[in-house]
Amino acid sequence: MRVRLHTLGCRLNEAETEAWARQLQARGCPPAGAGEGADLLVVNTCAVTGEALRKSRQLLRRLQRGNPRARLVVTGCAASLPDTDLGAAGIDLLVPNQDKDHLVEIAAAALDLPLMPESATAPAAAALFARHRQRAFVKIQDGCRYQCSFCITTAARGPERSRPLAAICAEVQGLHATGVQEVVLTGVHAAGYGSDHGSSLTDLLAALLEQTSIPRIRLGSVEPWDLPADFWTLFANPRLLPHLHLPLQSGADSVLRRMARRCKGDAYEQLVAQARAAIADFNVTTDIIVGFPGESAAEWQQTLTRCARIGFAQVHIFAYSPRAGTRAATMPDQVPAALKRARSRELHELARQWRAPILANQVGRTWPVLIEGPYAGSDDPPPAGDGAGYTPHYLLTRVRGGADPALLNRIVPVRIDGVSADGSALLATPVETSVGRAAAG
Ligand code: SF4
Repeated sequence: MRVRLHTLGCRLNEAETEAWARQLQARGCPPAGAGEGADLLVVNTCAVTGEALRKSRQLLRRLQRGNPRARLVVTGCAASLPDTDLGAAGIDLLVPNQDKDHLVEIAAAALDLPLMPESATAPAAAALFARHRQRAFVKIQDGCRYQCSFCITTAARGPERSRPLAAICAEVQGLHATGVQEVVLTGVHAAGYGSDHGSSLTDLLAALLEQTSIPRIRLGSVEPWDLPADFWTLFANPRLLPHLHLPLQSGADSVLRRMARRCKGDAYEQLVAQARAAIADFNVTTDIIVGFPGESAAEWQQTLTRCARIGFAQVHIFAYSPRAGTRAATMPDQVPAALKRARSRELHELARQWRAPILANQVGRTWPVLIEGPYAGSDDPPPAGDGAGYTPHYLLTRVRGGADPALLNRIVPVRIDGVSADGSALLATPVETSVGRAAAG
């Protein structure tokens, strides 16, 4: 029996899909190879925006046409929101978000799947590497207690629930034991980890640093509040990577109030300043929603001014799109699409300018980069033979000679020689170590 798993949406969805791939592999159900038919299809849908929902429906229709005999299991946010029509008649099993951690057992029972008993010997990383991935996403918690006015996730994923600390440590150690060098910890409200069982994100990170030997632990997106007081002290350990993606969403407090965000602009800046004071080279990236209902020219200017003051290395820019079922969707003064586009273009250009000095400051320095595969940038000259990976503080790096298969999934010390022409990546050469010499050929 062969399975094909499809993921739409966030890193948390990706972490869940990776876990099912491992569980199915361990029960004798490997992923179907390229061009190979699948007996079982699992789709982890997304419904964060109307567009995401449309893409989920489109994927289901395409998969059904292409695999008429396969069993189809659908889960994720589009399968968990009330009155959401997925528009695909041939679904064999719907698994709502609150049950998705047990998806493999539920599907095996409901569809009588011929799965073998779990084999303890199946290498946890095999399923990940088979998906051409080197960094493993690991789910630490689910759900959220807050109600940001633009967000449907909290409705789709329900209340906060944290995975047991010991289970996360065992999973990470299992991944490392079979070859994974870096894990990315993901959740809906990761900063709230442990709030439901008397623990905290600091406890989890401390346990991972103590009880596992994985070289690189990265945090996924973290809301900029509820972070434990002693959180920053943990970054003294270089295995906890000095980067956080902290969604600001807007730089104007009046907009943040309409968004019902728990963190106002000055508090956000203080948090970033605290991180930068505590940890050298700490990198902060963010999300900005452009054109939130009622966003005036003055509020937009406040957002640009605050972002410029912070100086982000990367800004993920989202033009606001009304999501049915959220309070913001029915708010007055929806911003015209043309104005959203103009503001998005303006922010793209400014974000590129804020990033340039951060990358330029790396030239001449040496960083360990985890080689994740061939570099796929659109640079001129084309990156023949070059590899790609990230510095500890999450700066994309093009590594000369890094496409050598012998270097795949290796942490290679590299010297930063420059910045790519389009300003998207650092250019680097492996330094003179055994690994470096191997890379330099
Ligand atoms: S904190 Fe995040 S997940 Fe929770 S409601 Fe707000 S945006 Fe949604």
